[in-house]
Amino acid sequence: MMKKEITCIGCPMGCRITAELDGDKIISIEGYTCNIGKKYAQEELTVPTRMVTALIKVEGTHQPLSVKTSRPIEKSKIFDCLKEISQHTVVRPIHIGEVIIKNVCGTSVDIVATKELI
Ligand code: SF4
Repeated sequence: MMKKEITCIGCPMGCRITAELDGDKIISIEGYTCNIGKKYAQEELTVPTRMVTALIKVEGTHQPLSVKTSRPIEKSKIFDCLKEISQHTVVRPIHIGEVIIKNVCGTSVDIVATKELI
C-alpha cells in the first residue's frame, strides 16, 4: 500500500486529498469537500492532465502570439506538444480563439490563440 497526497485545484480552498493505492489501483480517497475534488483526484492518480500555454512565433515580428490548448491534455504529452508548437510560425491577422494547430500530437486537442493580433 502507498499513500499519496494531492492538493485539489478545483477552487481556492485547495483541499488536501489523501489517497491510498495498491499499485495502480485506488483503494481510498479522503479529504475532498465536494465531488469536483474526488473526480480531480481520480484523474490525477490515473491519467493526469493539464492545460498547456505557450508562445508561438509570428512571421515578420519579434512579438509572439500566446496560445493554449483547447482543453487539458495528458501530462505525458506536454513535451511533445510544446515541441510541435515551437516548430510553427503564424501569419497575421490572428483572432482570439482561432485554431492555430489542429489535433496537436494526435491528442484530438487544438492549439488556439489567446489574443488578437492584427
Ligand atoms: S474538493 Fe471541492 S471544495 Fe475542495 S478544493 Fe476541490 S473543488 Fe474546492
